[in-house]
Amino acid sequence: MRQSQLFTKTRKEAPADEAAKNAQLLIRAGYIAKEMAGVYSYLPLGLRVVEKIKQIVREEMNAIAGQELIMTALQRKELWESTGRWDDEVVDVWFKSSLKAGGEVGFGWSHEEPIGEMMKGYISSYKDLPISVYQFQTKLRNEMRAKSGVMRGREFVMKDMYSFCADEESHLTYYESTKPAYMKVFERLGIGDDTFVTFAAGGAFTKFSHEFQTICEAGEDITYINKEKGIAINEEVLNDETLESLGITREELTETKTAEVGNIFNFGQQKAEDLGLMVKNKDGESIPVWMGSYGIGITRLVGVLVEKFADEKGIVWPEAVAPFKVHLVGLNSDDAEVKDFTDGIYLSLKEKGVEVLYDDRDLRAGEKFADSDLIGLPYRIVVSRKTKEEGKFEVVTRASGEVRLLTEEELYNDFDNDSNT
Ligand code: ATP
Ligand code: MG
Repeated sequence: MRQSQLFTKTRKEAPADEAAKNAQLLIRAGYIAKEMAGVYSYLPLGLRVVEKIKQIVREEMNAIAGQELIMTALQRKELWESTGRWDDEVVDVWFKSSLKAGGEVGFGWSHEEPIGEMMKGYISSYKDLPISVYQFQTKLRNEMRAKSGVMRGREFVMKDMYSFCADEESHLTYYESTKPAYMKVFERLGIGDDTFVTFAAGGAFTKFSHEFQTICEAGEDITYINKEKGIAINEEVLNDETLESLGITREELTETKTAEVGNIFNFGQQKAEDLGLMVKNKDGESIPVWMGSYGIGITRLVGVLVEKFADEKGIVWPEAVAPFKVHLVGLNSDDAEVKDFTDGIYLSLKEKGVEVLYDDRDLRAGEKFADSDLIGLPYRIVVSRKTKEEGKFEVVTRASGEVRLLTEEELYNDFDNDSNT
């Protein structure tokens, strides 16, 4: 993409009311626009990041037999009343509205109830199970605090998955299979080493639920971690009983600020019992389905990645989610020959399938480099009059600052889409 055609511009300043580093940088670099507190639009660059994260999650959910669908944002009051969760005293994040034709609707903050209800139309026998379905949905939540930028939105994208099983064994097997699947997602995003399966407050069925907590200064959670033993405990369940049951002492754990990037809940049969989601088992008896729910905060992850990897110059994207792999920065573009030469490099890289953002704007080198640092693409290739004359391309790795000088041939070999640089 040619940067001259990108409608977003970088900015020196973030909005004065934006306190979070992630949102400040994302706004300044042109990834997102702030509509109001906790509500952000995703602009072309930001959308590419979101789509890349979604694709990684999609691949890993498909690998554990997840089937993708998309539920509605508007939800029926009566359904949530049937499980006792319409009441604002019970669920404190509801956005609600009323229909002109009469009656109330809720804006989806979660989809456990609607999906369970919908499944009644498709599941009747143990032979229909197991099933796992997931979606990427914009959730609407009337969050009290919205000071963490995109890490806590009032409107945000979540991947939520729901499993339905006919017996405890297959249910527990599925539940366990989501842990390595989730860890694969976080590894692919470059935060695997800093993300821990964490014991947290339980669902209906089990003593603990499991959260995926990533070490992050800007996170809102406190997690007690022992890296060597791979044990992590949310402060909300840190007590003598928990420590004893996990065979660890308080002294072995380090208090750490973390962000919850995902969580998994085991409902047992409770949720289906509440909803009346029943199947016939092998003996012909009607039993409530075993259910689990599995969330990942897609847009929260955007914020976590910015918070963790940014430096004083701007954003530093992990390659797996960067909107483009290469920032091609053309200098001396007032010289038509240099400009033509640089255009040629752009087209060749594109032809090789490399994702390139081409800064073809007529600006000073200093401004271009500052923008490039702010936007944070993994590699910067600088092309100038000197490059054209000497045949050497300067390639800068954003994360390490490493500078290499490559010939044109080396450049194409290096950025061939199949290679792993
Ligand atoms: P939190 O404790 O942070 O409020 P939660 O317990 O409400 O999270 P879930 O309802 O289970 O979380 O949502 C699943 C995932 O969605 C969370 O693990 C988190 O990554 C993400 N998430 C939850 N609330 C928000 C929000 N307001 N903005 C962005 N992401 C969110
Ligand atoms: Mg919440």
